[in-house]
Amino acid sequence: MLPPMPRIFSGIQPSGELHIGNWLGAVQNWVKLQYSYESIICVVDLHAITAKYEHASLSQRTREMAIGLLACGIDPERATLFVQSHVPEHTELQWMLNSVTPIGELERMTQFKDKSQRLESVPVGLLTYPVLMAADILLYHADLVPVGEDQVQHLELTREVARRWNAEFGRGESYFAEPQALLTEAKRIMGLDGQAKMSKSLGNTVGLLDTPEEIWQKLRPAPTDPARVTKKDPGNPEICNIYHLHRYFSPPETVAQVVENCTGAKWGCLDCKRVLADNMIAALAPIRARALELREQPELVDEILAAGAAKARAIAGQTILEVRDRMGFLQSAGRLIH
Ligand code: ATP
Ligand code: MG
Repeated sequence: MLPPMPRIFSGIQPSGELHIGNWLGAVQNWVKLQYSYESIICVVDLHAITAKYEHASLSQRTREMAIGLLACGIDPERATLFVQSHVPEHTELQWMLNSVTPIGELERMTQFKDKSQRLESVPVGLLTYPVLMAADILLYHADLVPVGEDQVQHLELTREVARRWNAEFGRGESYFAEPQALLTEAKRIMGLDGQAKMSKSLGNTVGLLDTPEEIWQKLRPAPTDPARVTKKDPGNPEICNIYHLHRYFSPPETVAQVVENCTGAKWGCLDCKRVLADNMIAALAPIRARALELREQPELVDEILAAGAAKARAIAGQTILEVRDRMGFLQSAGRLIH
């Protein structure tokens, strides 16, 4: 018998539109990895309620995120794609893990500090977000977690939580293996504002499913090197976000041309953005076309998610039974509920 494939787990919040940062930093990698790893991919709606959100559209955004992932090439025949709240074991394990997670570790998480400082009243959910993420990963005994750089700190915490739980309840074994991060070259895409990482919640994104016109309207006003006041002022591509995006969307000859035209003041920033827009539009066109088709078939998408949740629950339920046992809970005398 062949050894089992290593398992990966990854999640994305339905907190807004799937954007090119998510795609380059994470989703593209998931699509590639599904051929060599057992892949579990989750739309993490329970994470998305840790920030203010519109409840009337959460379900639609959740389906829309699944559509985006399928359109990017996640193959439900290969990967298990599901919605986090459809597998209640995630929240149960989170509660168990809360008991071994130090509050001080949560308070020093960069994402917590960034997101909480923008709020007047900080919900507990924002603080315990990384514990739910640890539960997501450990529930499936994932070996690898393909994420963007912003999530590496949370993954470190997951490893620490696993160690602490093992020390307390592992009966001398490493029941939870410590998962490893898997980064892409595009581990941190900056937002179009040039101020922060591209984030669904910051409105500084290019949506993966944006129309060609929307893409252009978003790129057009984006800041570039401030030294380039007029066409005649030479610029430094290294400090220009538009240049960095060229590196992911334009062929090497064009990237070289961009450097020459920018440093030699041979064109204006708008010319440079137009070329980027055209290449981006071409790269995203097939994804957009598949998403438009899937939007016409919401029942099919919901069926894929239901089948994914059933597969995920088969693994998650087993983990929860073992965790309850190791933590000393009285087993139900009736049918085991999970
Ligand atoms: P939110 O603003 O709601 O936190 P987000 O855009 O940060 O949304 P997440 O759902 O939190 O997206 O993250 C999904 C995946 O995308 C994670 O693996 C994360 O590391 C990755 N990711 C998010 N933003 C970027 C970025 N700017 N560059 C590279 N990877 C990113
Ligand atoms: Mg995020």
